[in-house]
Amino acid sequence: MVPGREGIEGAMDEQNVIDIDMKGAPACGRCFMLVARFAPQVVASSGTYHRECFEAWYFGRYRKRPRLIAGAPDRHRFQVRDTEDLAA
Ligand SMILES: [Zn+2]
Repeated sequence: MVPGREGIEGAMDEQNVIDIDMKGAPACGRCFMLVARFAPQVVASSGTYHRECFEAWYFGRYRKRPRLIAGAPDRHRFQVRDTEDLAA
């Protein structure tokens, strides 16, 4: 008798899914999940973040939304203009 075994196996299966088609993907600097190649993402000097993660972190810290610039180098990636905002 192994109580709860089914639940444990289910959780392990979910983790294994991450390995599929994620080779070379960077880990998000905030939630540490891998950032999919075509997911909206922010490339900052401190690392790569999911766009949602970055906005949530930035808003929590600076109380305003980050200025994100798309197309660097493709439309799934954003760069943040943070030098002006940080000085303000
Ligand atoms: Zn994230």
